[in-house]
Amino acid sequence: MHEISLCLSALELIEDQARRHGGNRITGVWLEIGALSCIEEEALRFCFDSACRHTPAEGCRLHVSYAPAQAWCWQCGTRVSVQGYESGCPRCGSHALRVESGDQLQVKQIEID
Ligand SMILES: [Zn+2]
Repeated sequence: MHEISLCLSALELIEDQARRHGGNRITGVWLEIGALSCIEEEALRFCFDSACRHTPAEGCRLHVSYAPAQAWCWQCGTRVSVQGYESGCPRCGSHALRVESGDQLQVKQIEID
């Protein structure tokens, strides 16, 4: 499961941010899952919970949202928003896409105490 390594690197970033802002405890975390990241919310929540154990983020509230991916369609020659790998280009259905964003996990916001 690649969710574990993603959670660990996200948590590293979160702890770093919290330290920089002088927070002792992280009370809330907002994560955004890219539509093409192949991350499942359930698996993400599970991994994040265990990654947070014994860290300042233990017991924090996790907010998860999805972001559509941005890709370049070679068929249409346009930048399009893609909802998933299977759906392909929303205009022509082509899978000749170059993914530009939305294949990652992003930390949008954190709340510290
Ligand atoms: Zn297209």
